[in-house]
This record gives sequence, C-alpha cells and structure tokens, in this order.
Amino acid sequence: MGKINIEGLEFSACNGVLEFEKVKPQKFVFDAELTVGLMPALNDELSSTVNYAEVCSLLEEAVTGNSFNLIEKLALECAFKILEKFSSVDAVKLTVNKPQAPITQKFKSVGVTVELERVKAYLSLGSSVGDRQGYLNKAISALDGTRGITVEKVSPFMETAPYGGVAKNKFVNCAVCVQTFLPPHSLLDEINRIEQECGRVRDRRWDDRTLDIDIIFYGDKIICDERLTVPHCDYKNREFVKIPLKKIAPHLID
Ligand code: ATP
Ligand code: MG
Ligand code: MG
Repeated sequence: MGKINIEGLEFSACNGVLEFEKVKPQKFVFDAELTVGLMPALNDELSSTVNYAEVCSLLEEAVTGNSFNLIEKLALECAFKILEKFSSVDAVKLTVNKPQAPITQKFKSVGVTVELERVKAYLSLGSSVGDRQGYLNKAISALDGTRGITVEKVSPFMETAPYGGVAKNKFVNCAVCVQTFLPPHSLLDEINRIEQECGRVRDRRWDDRTLDIDIIFYGDKIICDERLTVPHCDYKNREFVKIPLKKIAPHLID
C-alpha cells in the first residue's frame, strides 16, 4: 500500500448556504490522500498508477460544475467521484477548506474532512412471502443500482426451512458479495430502504417476510452498537447463510 497526496489544490467556485455564495465565486482548497497499491508502478509506467493530474481535473469538474450548500456535501461528492472513477484507489481522505467563508471573526480557514474506504461486504438475502425469487432478484438489482454499491457475486438460490420457530413458510436464500464504499451504517440504511421497497413489514423477529437482507461481514470490521452487529451475531448457526456464502467465498475466514 502507498499514498498519493495532493495538497493545497485551489478552485474558485460557487458553493455555500448564503445567496451571495451561490453567485459570487470564492476560494476552495483541497487536500486529498488516496490509498493505492504502488508496487505496480515499479515498471515506471503512468498507466500502472493513479494519474494525479486526472484526479485534479475530476475534482475541478466536481467543484466548478456543481453548486452545493454544504462543504460536507461537496467533500462527499468529490470522494465518491474519485472512488467511482479510479478502481485502484482503496481509500480516500479528502479535506475541503473554505478560507473565505462568511464568518465575521478572524480565522484562517474552515473545512471538513471525509474518509471513505472501499471494502467487500457479504450479505445474506432471504424471502418467504410472494414471488420469493422475484424479491431476491429485485433486491440484487436494487443493491447494484445504489450509488456506492456494486454487486460482485451472487450465489445460487436455495430453498430452506424457516428458522427460529416463528415463520411458517419455506424461504429462498442466497448470499451476495458487494464492493462498497458506503460506511457500514449507510449500507444498512440502503438495505433497509430496499427491504421497504420490497414491502417488508417488521412485526415479529424471524417471521415470514418479503425480503430480509442482513450484513454478515463488512470487510474485516467488528461492529457492535444499537443498530448493527457485524459479523452477524448468529450467522454461524445458520446453514442457509453458510452454504450460499461458501459458494461465493470458499476461503472466507471470520
Ligand atoms: P436476524 O438478524 O436474527 O436475522 P432479522 O433479520 O429478522 O433477524 P430484522 O428485523 O431484519 O431482523 O432487523 C432487526 C434489526 O437488526 C435492524 O433494525 C438492524 O438495525 C439490526 N441489525 C443488527 N445487526 C445487523 C446486521 N448485521 N445486518 C442487518 N441488520 C442488523
Ligand atoms: Mg435476518
Ligand atoms: Mg434482517
């Protein structure tokens, strides 16, 4: 791993909450740190690395071609664009400074820093109501159509007995590997949105449902808070998770 650093990249653009900021350009200063594998560049070919001039042009386009209220939004948009365009960038740390921000006090600069990382996440999908295969296919398309998520692998579908002693119907399950640069809780938000779009009703845990999507692994992260437990707390006891997962990731280690 290595880093490509860009410091003090300046643009004049119209971003800000106040009306005059939307029409009168002001200075924005970017610092970017891109995490990349630098060893391929041993061959001394520009094509073996991330061309920093292209990164600068991409940032220029994003900054001058948009007018956002918030530098948070501007920074996130720019980080997304870098990760979308340069597949060899594994992570981005991006700081946007606004040295002419409308503040009456004496100050040097205000800014925000965003950090996004590209990871592989493994998801378990299940459906036991209605067109079960249809819901899984719809969910896979919806995942792939979500900004920041790319579906890389889908296991074969398998029919399984209900789990947990609540649901009555048989399930159809599969496992999906996605590449994502959404942080884990943002990935969960998107998953919850897709479940809702597929008519998911949350009554009783483990009851029959049109669609359930659980995050089994998110890279090698361990997360345990009120919204998210990763690796999934019960996946080891579930053949309907482990069997499809093994099909797409035979060498995966918890
Ligand atoms: P189980 O998680 O045991 O399979 P379930 O999938 O039926 O149960 P849901 O109703 O889908 O449960 O989710 C209940 C809550 O679980 C969600 O609101 C979510 O915040 C939380 N949750 C915790 N960890 C995870 C995870 N790894 N993946 C998805 N949801 C999770
Ligand atoms: Mg579940
Ligand atoms: Mg769930």
